[in-house]
This record gives sequence, C-alpha cells and structure tokens, in this order.
Amino acid sequence: MREILHIQGGQCGNQIGSKFWEVICDEHGVDPTGRYRGDANSDLQLERINVYYNEASGGRYVPRAVLMDLEPGTMDSIRSGPFGQIFRPDNFVFGQSGAGNNWAKGHYTEGAELIDSVLDVVRKEAENCDCLQGFQVCHSLGGGTGSGMGTLLISKIREEYPDRMMLTFSVFPSPKVSDTVVEPYNATLSVHQLVENADECMVLDNEALYDICFRTLKLSTPSFGDLNHLISATMSGVTCCLRFPGQLNSDLRKLAVNLIPFPRLHFFMVGFAPLTSRGSQQYISLTVPELTQQMWDAKNMMCAADPRHGRYLTASAMFRGKMSTKEVDEQMINVQNKNSSYFVEWIPHNVKSSVCDIPPRGLKMASTFVGNSTSIQEMFRRVSEQFTAMFRRKAFLHWYTGEGMDEMEFTEAESNMNDLVAEYQQYQDATVEDDGEYEEEDGAEENYED
Ligand code: GDP
Repeated sequence: MREILHIQGGQCGNQIGSKFWEVICDEHGVDPTGRYRGDANSDLQLERINVYYNEASGGRYVPRAVLMDLEPGTMDSIRSGPFGQIFRPDNFVFGQSGAGNNWAKGHYTEGAELIDSVLDVVRKEAENCDCLQGFQVCHSLGGGTGSGMGTLLISKIREEYPDRMMLTFSVFPSPKVSDTVVEPYNATLSVHQLVENADECMVLDNEALYDICFRTLKLSTPSFGDLNHLISATMSGVTCCLRFPGQLNSDLRKLAVNLIPFPRLHFFMVGFAPLTSRGSQQYISLTVPELTQQMWDAKNMMCAADPRHGRYLTASAMFRGKMSTKEVDEQMINVQNKNSSYFVEWIPHNVKSSVCDIPPRGLKMASTFVGNSTSIQEMFRRVSEQFTAMFRRKAFLHWYTGEGMDEMEFTEAESNMNDLVAEYQQYQDATVEDDGEYEEEDGAEENYED
C-alpha cells in the first residue's frame, strides 16, 4: 500500500477538503457511515481504496484525514454535515482564538500553540501506514490559519518526514471574491514557504474560479459553494490517477518526476472539462475532440493566467469514462502539433495522457489537465503587485510586527516570489540552441576543471 495522509486547515481548507471527501466517497462507493455500497465497478472502487482510507473494524472505511482550525465554527458544520460522521473524531484538532486573517497569528503565535496537537495526530496516522507515500494539504493562502498555520505544519512535516512527498491544493486570493486587504501579504508569505517546503502545488485561483462561474456558467453572484464545486471536480480529477489502478502518474512521486523539470517550478495550472455548475441537471456529453479542445482552453484553467502567454514545460492529461485510448492519443498529438510553439522544444515528449474507465458522477466523460506552464508567472505577478503596493508604504505591517514578525521576512518573501517569476521567464525564453547554459548577467560563471 502507498498511503496518502490528507490534512485540511482553516475555513477554506476545511470547506474544500470536506467536499473532496464527499466526491471521492461517492466514487469509491463509500456511504456517510463508512460502509461500502459499491456497484458493478467494485473491483476498481476498492482496489486502491487504502491510498486514502483506513479500514476500521467492522469493514468501515475511514478517511485518513486530519482537520485543523484555530476556531471551531467550520469544523462544527462539517461534523454536522452530510459526511460529518465519517471522519475519525480524534482527528478534529481546533482552537478557539482564531487567526483574524493574520498569517503571523497562524504561523508564529496562535498556530504555533496548537501545532503540536496537530502533529501528534499526524504522527499517529503516519505510524499506522504500511508505506506512506506522502501528504496532501488543502488550504487557502489569503487567510491566517490555512495560510500561516498550514505552511507551519508543512515545514514541520518536511522536517520530520523529509523523504515523503508533499502535495498542496492551495487557493490563491482574489479581490473579486474577498474583501480582506491583507490577503496579498498572507499569500506572498505562504508562497515563500511553499517554494521551499512543498514538492507539488495545485494552484486554485479564486480569480479564475470566479470568472468561470460568472462568464462560462453564467452565475451572477457566485458563492463559495459554486467555486468549491469546481474545486472538488478538479481535485477528484487530479487524484483519479492516485486512486484507481493502472494509471499514469500513479503516485505522488511519479507525478512530480513527470511534471517538475526544476525543483522550484512546482506550481501547476489545472484545467477541467466539461465545466458544469452545481446541481445542473443537464447531462453534458462531449466527444473526445471537444474534451481535448476545452481542456487546453485558457477559459477552463483554474488559474487566471493565459497559457498562450507562456510555454508548457510539461503537462499531463487524465481522461475519464469509456472512450478510445487511440482517439485520445491522436487528439493530444494533434493539439501539440498545431501549437508546437507553446511547448518548450528542449523537453521532448513533455505531454502525457491516460484514461481511467470510471467517469465522475453525472458525466459520461470528463478530463482533467495538469500543466507546468511558464505563464503561471502572471498570477504571481498579480499577487506581487498587490503586495508591493502596500508594502512600499508599510501599510498594515503593525498587525504582523505586533505578533513578533520582522519586516525582513516580508522583504525576503517578496524577493523569493519575484525570483520565481524571473525563473519562469528564463525558461520561457530558453531555446534548444542555448545548450542549457544560462550565463549570469555579470559573467560570473563557474569554471570546472577536470
Ligand atoms: P483561515 O480560516 O484563517 O484559513 O481563512 P480563510 O480560509 O477564510 O481564508 C480567506 C481566503 O480564503 C480568502 O481569499 C477567501 O476568498 C478564501 N476562501 C474562504 N473560504 C473559501 C471557500 O470555501 N472556497 C474558496 N474557493 N475560497 C475560500
């Protein structure tokens, strides 16, 4: 068994995390009491169930999930929600103080007080595993708990389990969805951590999610529920290869090996097709060419960046449903041939695809796209501009220094994110002819003697 330990923190993290569990319980035939009520697909549903679930006495399946928050509200509603009883009660770890959208409270003060109780639960779950492959963390970057405490937990886990993989589902803030002005601070401080301590990050950008709801799904006032519907469909698609047998990228490490040519560049754009709204009854049915076309479309990306403004270093597509593998391969080759300038030519065969027989609920076919595109720098630039506008005048800084933070950490986080943007740009511009040598501007190239 190669188990994954799931952790969700803060309001957003807990909300998207519990939606994820509702969706995958349904796909694996697990009911809200943890009993298996599978169907004809049963072999496939159960074959790799241990990746995400523990088997408890009486044949119950229990999510290998830890829930944390600095206030009890969100977790109370999960507990009383449709799948609230499926989680292990000991795995709810919460405080009463709140983080007040302050990263410093989550990372250094309030969060630091609660972190050991979370680590105790994490350790207990990890010890129970046969061969843990890694962790996945659901959180937002704009608040205080998921963001500050979430990244504190990630760094503690990295320290204790340095050879395990760390995958995050990170929700980036957008002023279109939230009205807390300090979110760019919290997000930048988090990115600084994620660059160093996470192996792979699935970027879920509220700006793009809002635009999909508003423009494509024609929802005039999208709610978190609407955004989270897109997120849970995407999370189910992304993890499909980990949960069902016989897939490409069948574990977290293989996924990373295929998608990450340079260690810092591990922030992925994800796309989904077909896009549907919550509760929409129409039974959308698409052909493989339509799915392929939509999946690569900027409008279907969960990140507000246009892939045509950059180039793909790598990409991977997961098709779901009954379809011809041959047709999938042909369509994917077709996209690459027609758009070859959007793929770096110095990584041959940088696009992979696979097919999983089981479609998501309510659809005959669907596809999920995970791409490592240099255009993601557009989103980092957006956050960085919002950060810098305030930081230049040191606006709101006292909330952070008041919790003991040093201004220096802001400066470092800002430059780390700007460096990341520059690195994306560097590989966007790189051609085969460069023969892989990037000369430093000041000519400070090292000489190697043999
Ligand atoms: P925390 O509880 O301190 O971690 O704070 P939140 O999770 O509420 O973080 C605030 C950020 O998360 C803002 O950018 C919100 O727009 C976003 N957010 C909060 N709840 C949700 C949610 O359910 N879905 C989505 N997509 N974003 C959310």
